[in-house]
Amino acid sequence: MDAIPKDLRQLRACLSCSLIKNVDQFENDGCENCDEFLHMKNDRDKVYVCTSNNFDGMIAVMSPEDSWVAKWQRISRFSKGIYAISVAGKLPAIVIRDMKSRGITYKSRDNSSR
Ligand SMILES: [Zn+2]
Repeated sequence: MDAIPKDLRQLRACLSCSLIKNVDQFENDGCENCDEFLHMKNDRDKVYVCTSNNFDGMIAVMSPEDSWVAKWQRISRFSKGIYAISVAGKLPAIVIRDMKSRGITYKSRDNSSR
């Protein structure tokens, strides 16, 4: 399933992979890339914690395998969709710990803090 935002209201970007969808989509389907460890599906509170409405730039990634944008954003193995170029905010420490225990390195998408 493609993760294309159905409408432009209440758009939020995933703090882990920067995928952009609206709140309802995150709540209904979770994040296509991260729900294995973010568990946003059916948990609206989690959606608000793990996504941010403060993001910059939108890029459509239709074939992540050969998109230079995807390579630049290091999202080549992610699902098709709309991605933010930078996302302000940070995942909660407990979530980052959980990712670490699964061997996933969390990389902040907040370009402004570099
Ligand atoms: Zn994600």
